Order: sequence, then structure tokens, then C-alpha cells
Amino acid sequence: MDEQDATAGGRRGGDELRERIAAGWSALRDEVAGWLNEQTAFGLSRREVIAGRASTAARATVGACAAVVLWGLIGPSVVARVREIAERVIASGPPAQNAVIAVVIGGWLIGRWFRWAVRRPPVSAAAVTLAAAQVASMLTPGDVDERVARHEAAHAVVAHALGAQVRQLRALPVGNTGGRCEWGFEADRTSAVENAWVSLCALAAGELEVPEGPYAWPGASGDTHEAIAAATFIIRRGEHPAEYDGPLTIEGLLAGAHRRATALLAELQPALGAVAAALIARGRLDQTEVAAAIAGAGGSTGRDR
Ligand SMILES: [Zn+2]
Repeated sequence: MDEQDATAGGRRGGDELRERIAAGWSALRDEVAGWLNEQTAFGLSRREVIAGRASTAARATVGACAAVVLWGLIGPSVVARVREIAERVIASGPPAQNAVIAVVIGGWLIGRWFRWAVRRPPVSAAAVTLAAAQVASMLTPGDVDERVARHEAAHAVVAHALGAQVRQLRALPVGNTGGRCEWGFEADRTSAVENAWVSLCALAAGELEVPEGPYAWPGASGDTHEAIAAATFIIRRGEHPAEYDGPLTIEGLLAGAHRRATALLAELQPALGAVAAALIARGRLDQTEVAAAIAGAGGSTGRDR
């Protein structure tokens, strides 16, 4: 091989190398560009993620530099001061050391408490409103729905007229109920069947003064359940109540009680109005207040005892 050939061969080799480097560089660039443009799990390309974090990285760098500079300026004096305090504490007597320990523990506890206070979730406005409404309903009688008051008063007037003791009357919403009328019987009453009949008539009276609106159901479901229970009780006993001579069936007893309650309420409109008015004014009435309202309206003309 002569010199020219060798030179030409070297040039050819140099060109090949340059081409290979250029091809490698371009492949690497494409590879990197592809990697940067690839979508990540966040729904963004890597390029976008890096761009989005550039400001954070810059701030972290500036912060780190500032910390290094600051420490360079005041670090040695801080260390010297801490060493001086530590030496003084070591040199002092136990009482001073105890005081320092107490201050450190106290500061740590206050710090813990502060961290807890800052991190705990804020009380929601809805919870505050609910609590305020509950407190307000306990302190004030609230608004009585007139229709609920008339419904409860109808139970009370008929129960009272038929000799039951009306023990409590309420026309304020609690849970699912808009109100409640509770009655009971003296121990010396004639019979359990008579008691069941009186309850049946008092429950039927509630059907004649039906509260409309959201409390009608399930509020009235209690009346229905109790009426069916009372009628079932009478049927099981197989005895006729004194005021009823129809068939001993659920339908018959419910219809009979309905008729009796209709007649009584027609007669006792003044008492019904008086009890309802007292209930609207006060929200709830006890036994004596119910009796007083009925007596004030001219008493009941039913089967008084
Ligand atoms: Zn009722």
C-alpha cells in the first residue's frame, strides 16, 4: 500500500466516524425527546412535569444557598452561645437545672399542642348550625304546627271524655313524630277490653283531625299500629265493649270506634279548640293542664267518671 492510499483510507475512516457520531447523536436526541414527550401517570408529558417543577427547584436552590450563607454569618456565634448556655447549666446547681428541664418539657408540650391545634380539621359551619338549632329547640318551644296540635288535641279530648287519663300532650316535633298524646287508665277500671275500646276511639279521633304535611306519615303510623293492636286485643278476648255491639272483626271495631269518635268530637268542639289553643301556645301540656283546658271549655260531656 502506498502513502496516497493510506491517506485516502484515513480520510474515509474519519468521515465514517463523523457520520457514525452524528447518527448516534441524532438517535440519542430522538430517544431523549421521545422520553420527555412520553405521557406520565399524571396525564402530562415528562417535559411538562419538569417545566412545572422548575420554579420549585429554583426556589429550593435559592433557599439552600441562603441557608448556607446565613449559617456562615451567624452559625459560629450561635454555636458559641449554645455552648456557653450549656456550660452555665452544667455549672449551676440542681434547682436551676430542674427549672431548665421543666422549661424545655413545657415548651415541647406547648409546641405539640400548637401543632395539633393547627392541624386538626376546622369545625364545619353545618355542624355549628345544627348544634345551635338543637340548643335553640331545647330552650324555646319553637313553632307549633296548628294541624298537629288539633290532631293531638283530638286524641286527648276523646280519651278524656271516655274516662282515660291524658298524661302528656306534645305538639313539638321529635324524631319522626310531629307530636304525641299519652294516656293511661286507673287501676280500678272495669276491664281491659273497655280500656282497649277507649284507646281505639281516642286513636280514631286522630284520624278525624289528620295533620297534613310531612308529619302525617310516618307520624300517624303509630296511631295505625296501636289501633290494630287494640282491635286485635278485643277480638282475642271475645268480649264486646259496652259501647259496641257490632261484629268482632278489625274492620267492624275500627268503623265502630270511628263513629264513636266522630260523635264525641262533634259534641266536644269547644274542648278540642281549647286544648289545641293551649298546645299551640305552650307546645306541651301535662295532665293537669290538659284537664284544666277541657274544664275551662265547659268540660267533657262524654262518659265522665
Ligand atoms: Zn296521632
